[in-house]
Amino acid sequence: MQTDTHPSLIGSLTPPDNTRTHNFSPGPTSLPDPVQEEIRRQCFSPDRLSSMYLSHRSPEFGTILDNCIYLLRKVMAIPDNYEVLFTHGGGHGQFAAVPLNLCPTGEEKAAYLVSGTWSERAFDEAKKYCSPSIISSKNEEDGTYKTFPTVLPNEIDPDSKYVYMCSNETVNGVELHRLPDLKSRGVDAPLVIDASSDFTTKPIDWEKYNVGVLYACASKNIGHPGLTACIIRKDLLGNPSPMCPGVFDYTVNAKAGNLWNTTATFNVDVVGIVMDWILANGGVTAMEELSIEKSQLVYDVIDSSDGFYSTPLVTDEQKAVRSRMNVPFDVNGGDEEMTATFLKEAWERGIVGLRTLTPFGVGRYLRASLYHGVSLESSKFLVQFMEEFMNKNRL
Ligand SMILES: *Cc1c(COP(=O)(O)O)cnc(C)c1O
Repeated sequence: MQTDTHPSLIGSLTPPDNTRTHNFSPGPTSLPDPVQEEIRRQCFSPDRLSSMYLSHRSPEFGTILDNCIYLLRKVMAIPDNYEVLFTHGGGHGQFAAVPLNLCPTGEEKAAYLVSGTWSERAFDEAKKYCSPSIISSKNEEDGTYKTFPTVLPNEIDPDSKYVYMCSNETVNGVELHRLPDLKSRGVDAPLVIDASSDFTTKPIDWEKYNVGVLYACASKNIGHPGLTACIIRKDLLGNPSPMCPGVFDYTVNAKAGNLWNTTATFNVDVVGIVMDWILANGGVTAMEELSIEKSQLVYDVIDSSDGFYSTPLVTDEQKAVRSRMNVPFDVNGGDEEMTATFLKEAWERGIVGLRTLTPFGVGRYLRASLYHGVSLESSKFLVQFMEEFMNKNRL
């Protein structure tokens, strides 16, 4: 039983009055300051209707939608043989939508590479709609995930309709910085990627890695909750399960130009503004460099703390998949009292979001999430606090 209900211990994101907020939440989370300003300017101008109120079939929204897709294609170098869709239902919606679109009879096989809690959930959901097999990197003894599964030759059933993976496991802090080249290892099935928490933070070679579907709920790096970007190779359209709900049906929505039903107009507008910001700041290559720099600062303070802080991924193999987006760390070996003091003092300075409640429980690790909304300056502010706290409290 937790008796201390200090805001910082119950996941509050509101620091004391007049303190600038540095939001390290795993999501939903803040957008970059210049993006927030641009949203205020563009979407809440007294001179015109906000995209919140625009009919999705109006010419005004048509311009916003076309522009957003154009910019997203440009940022991520999405080839012409892919459709860009915006769906409702978040990442969880796609856990179901993927098999419903790719497995028409419900009997088809699909291979799931499970590297953390989200891909595990996706695998469980897929069982309702197809016949998935699992290759997992879970440590059965303690339930942790610290690597990406190694796929042995012939381990993927050649009848698999797709190979599913999550490129950044938000909770576990396991990230593949480049996609696995399964095609060169004789796997013909296309990759399906949950990139919800790392999309637009590194380039993707769509053809080389045989990407079939990639989706990202907007609320981590590219916008706010209520919208999911979904990118589908066109040859995979046209054969959904007859049970697939229209709102999840890639073929129906592609044919209708994203307007089969009411799309989340304001959210689409925001994604476009984020894409503009990415392009203005050097594009996805610069975003990757910045993500490396921000996360390295945090990992460095942990690695050089002589165990005052620790992060779960420590061997060379594990370090190679350390997430740049979500850095898990504990304080003084997970000591509850010291952790509570850490959280309270962080909160006093405006540092919030390090301990949020997840569907997978709280656990001993805090997490610093470093999406686009977290500036280099905010990352340095966190690291400086971590150093000060360590120097004050280390025995
Ligand atoms: C947040 C997240 C999800 C869940 O998305 P919802 O929008 O809550 O359904 C799925 N996958 C990953 C990798 C995530 O980070």
